Amino acid sequence: MQHNWSRYLRLIIAGLAGTTLVGWYFGYPLYGLLAGLMAYLWWTLGQARHLYKWLANPSATGEPPKSIGLWGDIFDNLHKLHQGHLLTQDRLRARINRVQESTNAMRDGVIMTDARGAMEWWNGSAEYLLGFRRSTDQGQYIHNLIRTPAFKAYFDARDYREPLEIHSPARPHIHLQIQISLFGDDDRLIVAKDVTRLYQLEQMRRDFVGNVSHEMRTPLTVISGYLETLVDHGDELPPKWRRAINTMAAQSSRMEALITDLILLSKIETGEHTGDDALTDVEHLINQICHDARALSGDRNHKILVEVTDHRLLRGDESQLRSAFSNLIFNAVKYTPANGSIEVSWSTNRDGAHLRVKDTGIGIDPVHIPRLTERFYRADPSRHKDTGGTGLGLAIVKHVLINHDGNLEIRSKVGEGSEFICHFPRERLVERVPETNDS
Ligand code: ADP
Repeated sequence: MQHNWSRYLRLIIAGLAGTTLVGWYFGYPLYGLLAGLMAYLWWTLGQARHLYKWLANPSATGEPPKSIGLWGDIFDNLHKLHQGHLLTQDRLRARINRVQESTNAMRDGVIMTDARGAMEWWNGSAEYLLGFRRSTDQGQYIHNLIRTPAFKAYFDARDYREPLEIHSPARPHIHLQIQISLFGDDDRLIVAKDVTRLYQLEQMRRDFVGNVSHEMRTPLTVISGYLETLVDHGDELPPKWRRAINTMAAQSSRMEALITDLILLSKIETGEHTGDDALTDVEHLINQICHDARALSGDRNHKILVEVTDHRLLRGDESQLRSAFSNLIFNAVKYTPANGSIEVSWSTNRDGAHLRVKDTGIGIDPVHIPRLTERFYRADPSRHKDTGGTGLGLAIVKHVLINHDGNLEIRSKVGEGSEFICHFPRERLVERVPETNDS
């Protein structure tokens, strides 16, 4: 290129020298040079015009204009660049088509939107699962097409660690699991998975457990009733029967507790009686539960301290919150040796409201902590006979907190004690309305 450039420069200089010589021959060397320059300028402008025309629409006009010398080289190089560009474009288009074909073949719905939710692209399954229409929905905001409030909240929250489950807006019998990922310039890739079968199985499991527990409750109440009568008349029974009857009565009351917890858990799981508009006076609730906890502690003489630093009300179902908080506080009593201390506090900060139950009990090995809220999971199975627990307490706590948009944090050290913290969002706090004389 460098080589050609100096050759072209030499040619131009030689040309101009030629015209100057001709001018000199006629006695006007300067006019000769000027005429040479003008001729070169004219030719250059002509080439620039060809180039300008070709660049305006290179694909339509095909090959670039033909020329010689410097302009010929420029046209050839531009042609090569253009060909390379077309080739890369074709290759990219083929790749995009392939990706789109494979995403279209997916059973999951895939949707691409910008940061505000304007729909850019979606596959065939998204059309079926969510009822989108290619002819009308391009550029529409996804919130206008999926109108479930939970979806809008999930989309806007930008916390996509956990998926969201919703019913399909187009086909209500389809249950969808929505997972969003961020990509590019704050754009969203939304994947909608059909989990109807799993949802139905889960529903069947819940119904089954709920129904069986209900059905067992009546016969068990009858058995317990008779056993209690027999225990009351224990003096009239032979000693070997007395022991058997006492054991049967203890086991039947354990079964009753288990069935009560199973029914409660299945109600909480199905979101029945969530009472989202109700307001709960947490301060009053904690005081009541701690009063019962002191009775449970009995002669084990635990020091139970209550500290409340926020007197606002919490939006939520009182009976569910009572179950959750009492499970945590009673667990602290059960798993703390005599004379230990238990602190219960209700406080708020800018992250939300927090119920903290801290004990100086036996503690929990960190390996168990992630699984503690599973049904019937026990850190120390040999102990549960002494505590009389059902193994469902923390599962109940977890589901109550899910129903109240909260979460459970567990901190513990073996031999030093445990701390269970229920976190609730700030939006659930409601100011107390001052009582008027009329009311
Ligand atoms: P359980 O009826 O067995 O108490 P939970 O679901 O309430 O069932 O608790 C699950 C397990 O968590 C318990 O078996 C126990 O091992 C552990 N645990 C719960 N609370 C405490 C606590 N305050 N201190 C130590 N361990 C605890």
